Order: sequence, then structure tokens, then C-alpha cells
Amino acid sequence: MPYRTWTSKHKQTFGIKPEEDKRDHRTPPKPKAYYTQTKGMCRWCAKIIINPKTEEINMRKSWHSKCVEEYLFVYHQGEARKHIWERDAGYCAGCGCKCKKRRWHLDHINPLYEQKDVKDEDIDYSYWMPDNLQILCIDCHKEKTSKEATSRAEFRKGVRKKISPQSKRKYLR
Ligand SMILES: [Zn+2]
Ligand SMILES: [Zn+2]
Repeated sequence: MPYRTWTSKHKQTFGIKPEEDKRDHRTPPKPKAYYTQTKGMCRWCAKIIINPKTEEINMRKSWHSKCVEEYLFVYHQGEARKHIWERDAGYCAGCGCKCKKRRWHLDHINPLYEQKDVKDEDIDYSYWMPDNLQILCIDCHKEKTSKEATSRAEFRKGVRKKISPQSKRKYLR
């Protein structure tokens, strides 16, 4: 996702408090750094931002470009849809049919409900990243959703899949 997609509309939550921010299992909590306004420190990973030319802290920035991309994938579905549509050239990952521009689903391969009721510090943001996203046509999505309804019921009973510890983000600890 190119950095140029980062526009003022993506910053509209700036300055609000964590408890005022909307969240559910589809929109997980943002890292603590997101709510701070420390220049030179990234609002996503909380690390300092170095200007590669001077090798000093860049006090004019508050995002790494890589981190902007991750943030957009999690909190701005429209951006994620655009990216996956281009990456997969509009083809359904289930049956291989070519989807029509607005007639497809952005599917989370490992479903997001697995992140429901997970403690803030244990949230696995890889669920929102491109590797876990695919295009599904309406029919394939319906089929996957009904299959998932069964596993979801099992999931509620406590049969929880193991999440690999490497994929967890460190900064929320
Ligand atoms: Zn960062
Ligand atoms: Zn399909």
C-alpha cells in the first residue's frame, strides 16, 4: 500500500482518549502510543523515527511508512480492499472466478472472531494483514461463512486454535 494513501481522513481520531475509541473484535484496540503526541516517536510501534540522511530523530514525523500501512490494514477496510483487489487481480481465492468490481468479499482466512475476547496485550494483528486476506466471490463467501458457523460454535465451547507467538506484536506488552 503506497504511503500516498495516508491522508487527513486517516487522522480523524487523533487526540481522542482510548476509552472513547470504538472497538469490537473487528476493530481491535490501538497501541498506547497511538494516543500520544510525541513527535519523533511512531504512533504505531512506539519506536523513534530516524531521518536516514542525518541519522538523527526526525521530529517532524510521527509514523514510520511501514507502520502506516499496517495501521491502514487494521482500521481502514477500504484501503485493505483496494490493496487485495489489486494484488489478486480480482480473482476469487475459492473457485478462481473473476469477480465484478463491487461484488466480492474481503475475507479473513483465519476468521476475526478468533480474536474476540482476546486480551489487549494478546491481540494478534497478523489477522488483519495481507497474508490473512483474500478475495472471495459471493458464493464462496457464503459457503465459507456457513462452514465457519460450525467451527465458531466449537470455538465458543473453548476449542481455541493456537496462535503462533512470533506473530504477536511486542509493543502492547
Ligand atoms: Zn513504527
Ligand atoms: Zn468463488
